Amino acid sequence: MRRRKEIVSALCAIIAGGTLAVAVAGFQGRGGQEGPKVARIEKVKDNLYYIFEPASGGNTAAFVTDSGVVLVDAKNPGWGQEILRQLHTVTDKPVTTIINTHTHRDHTGSNTEFPATVEFVAQENTRNNMAKETCTALGNCQSFKGENAKYLPKKTFKDKMTMGSGKDRIDLYYFGPGHTNGDAIIVFPMLRVAHFADLFARKAVPNVMPFDGGSAVSLPQTLAKAVAGIKDVDTVITGHSTLMTWKDVEEFAGFQREFLMSVQEAMKANKNADEAAAAMVKTLTVRYKDYTIAEPKTKENVGLIYDELHRTGHYVQ
Ligand SMILES: [Zn+2]
Ligand SMILES: [Zn+2]
Repeated sequence: MRRRKEIVSALCAIIAGGTLAVAVAGFQGRGGQEGPKVARIEKVKDNLYYIFEPASGGNTAAFVTDSGVVLVDAKNPGWGQEILRQLHTVTDKPVTTIINTHTHRDHTGSNTEFPATVEFVAQENTRNNMAKETCTALGNCQSFKGENAKYLPKKTFKDKMTMGSGKDRIDLYYFGPGHTNGDAIIVFPMLRVAHFADLFARKAVPNVMPFDGGSAVSLPQTLAKAVAGIKDVDTVITGHSTLMTWKDVEEFAGFQREFLMSVQEAMKANKNADEAAAAMVKTLTVRYKDYTIAEPKTKENVGLIYDELHRTGHYVQ
């Protein structure tokens, strides 16, 4: 008993010591939520890294080019310094460009913590979402009012754009509505890597945000277009999970297609959204074992699809 107590207190000391070191390293003297902000950086391939930590928001890619660093996504507000701190462990080059994959706060949150000389880039609908008069807190348009409008993307694209050339080339794609109406997929063709952001956040029933133009009905088609339209990628940076493979993207696109088809069948069979969701959780969990398929989220998405199909008149019995 006594020995156990000793072990416990020794463990506590280790944990406390570790936490303290972490807290000192990551303390941010800014307003808002104070506390340790510590992320991690890992090499994806060659000159491409990603910076991650669940509480920080979406995964940030850091592409070190000849002329400077291109970041993909800027995490939650207050994480700018920690992005730079991690970045400086691998390069001395300055950040020249930030690509925002979509409007959400956990991907655009620290735009305003970088020098305004940084070039901000986004799909045109995302730029419009960021510049909206009003939006939800997640939509983050509040952050770009007045003086801060200078942190809005000035360089935008519609369907496809290429930046840089040779080994520094980046291809930006937009395939249609999904998580929002402006989700960009960022491809590093020479490295065969793509950042899917919240179009493929994790292996789970996805978050679809109608307030920001997202569409649960269009999502499977958008992903199918991405799978068909993007060539020669083997490694994928997800929005909020670990690195994955192109096969994982194909599987995820298949999951979304199956999800939508199941909802359409349930509608034809006159099941209500709750009945449909309960049945789908059972079948999908068997087929997609490493996916998070919780009943509340499934119900929510089934409800979104029901609403959307009724509203658009695409559902004719
Ligand atoms: Zn996100
Ligand atoms: Zn998002």
